[in-house]
Amino acid sequence: MGFIPYGRQDISEQDVEAVMAVLRSDWITQGPAIEHFEHAVANYCEVRYAVAVSSSTAALHIACLAADVGSGELVWTSPNTFVASANCSLYCNAEIDFVDIDSRTYNLSVDALSQKIKAAEKDGNLPTVLIPVHLAGQSCEMAQIAVLAEQYGFTVIEDASHAIGAAYQGKPIGGCAFSEMTVFSFHPVKIMTTGEGGMILTNQEVLYNRLIRLRSHGITRNPDLMTEPSHGPWYYQQLELGVNYRMTDIQAALGLSQLQRLDAFVARRSKIAARYNKELANLPLTLPWQHPDTLSSWHLYIVRLQLHKLEKSHRQVFEKLRQLDIGVNLHYIPVHTQPYYQQMGFQWGDFPVAEQYYQEAISLPIYYGLTDTDQERVIEALTISLS
Ligand SMILES: *Cc1c(COP(=O)(O)O)cnc(C)c1O
Repeated sequence: MGFIPYGRQDISEQDVEAVMAVLRSDWITQGPAIEHFEHAVANYCEVRYAVAVSSSTAALHIACLAADVGSGELVWTSPNTFVASANCSLYCNAEIDFVDIDSRTYNLSVDALSQKIKAAEKDGNLPTVLIPVHLAGQSCEMAQIAVLAEQYGFTVIEDASHAIGAAYQGKPIGGCAFSEMTVFSFHPVKIMTTGEGGMILTNQEVLYNRLIRLRSHGITRNPDLMTEPSHGPWYYQQLELGVNYRMTDIQAALGLSQLQRLDAFVARRSKIAARYNKELANLPLTLPWQHPDTLSSWHLYIVRLQLHKLEKSHRQVFEKLRQLDIGVNLHYIPVHTQPYYQQMGFQWGDFPVAEQYYQEAISLPIYYGLTDTDQERVIEALTISLS
C-alpha cells in the first residue's frame, strides 16, 4: 500500500546519464545543453524561438516585462490558477484583475471576457496583457481570444504550465499561433521536468532578443544591439534592468532527455484519464468535459462532486481520501480569495463560477508512473469516500 500522490516525476536511467554527462563536462551552466534544449522544444512546438529560464514563475515575469507591463498597466488572468499567473503582474508594479471561468472547461470564459472588455472599454481601462491558463492541460479557446486581442489591442501570454504536449486545433501548444508568447513549467509535478525550470516561446524576434537579455541582467554582448561602440572584446552593455533567471545546463540536459519521452508521458496520462472516465461514470461526479478543438496533456484529472446527491461535504470526501492515502489535491483556490488579494480589494463573490467550482473540485492522482493497480485503489477509495 502506501501513499499515492496526485502527481510525480518519472526519471529514467537515461535521464540520470544525461545529467551525469553534463556534470563531467566543462559547462554546468551557460553551455551547449541550454541551446540544444531550447531548439528541441521549439522544434517540437513548431515555434521560432524558445528561452529557457529557472521556472515558469520567472518565465511569466519576464514575458510581462517583454510585453511592456509596468506601472499604470493592467493584466487580466483566470482566478482559477496558481498564484504565479497573477503575481507576475504585481512584480512589474502593474495592476491585476480576473475574468471568471467557463462552467464546463474551468478555463477563462470567452463570454465573460467579451463582457468585461465592453465594460472596460467604456471606463477606459482595457488590459495591456491577457494571460489565459490552460487548466489541467486543456487549451483555452485561443482562436476567439485572439480575435478579441486583435480588436482591442492587448497582448496574449499563454500560461501553458500544465500543457506541454497538448494540442489545439491540431497544432501543438506552444506554437503561439494565437498569442505573442507561451510559457511552460518544468516543475516535477508537471508533464516533464528539469527539477525547477520554465520556458518562454515566441515567433517574434524582437520579443526573443528582449527575453534573452531580461533573463540575464538586461545585458547584451551583441554589438549590433548596443547604444554606443563596444570598448573591446570584454565589453557587455546593460540595456535595461534584467534579472538572473538562467537555467543551468544540468537542468537543460534533464529536460532534453525528458523531452524524448514527452509523447509517452502524455499517452499514458490520456489512458489513465480514459479509464477514470469509464469507471467513474456512474458516481455522483461531474467528469472533465473536453472541448472538441482540444487534445489535453492531462496534467490534472479534476472531478466535481455533485453535492446535492451526497450525504457528505466536499471537505469530508477530501479528508476521507487523504485518510485512505490517496494524495488528492485541489486546483485551485480562486486567487482573488487569497488574503493578499483581498487586501487589494477583491472579495468573495467577485468571480462566482470559479468560487462554485472551488466548493466541488478534487484532483485525482494522474502521472506517468501510476500503475493500473494504483488507479484501482484510487477508484475504490473514491467510491468509499462518496458513500
Ligand atoms: C506550476 C504553475 C506555475 C508556476 O510554475 P513554476 O515553474 O513552479 O514557477 C505557473 N502557473 C501555473 C498555472 C502553474 O500550474
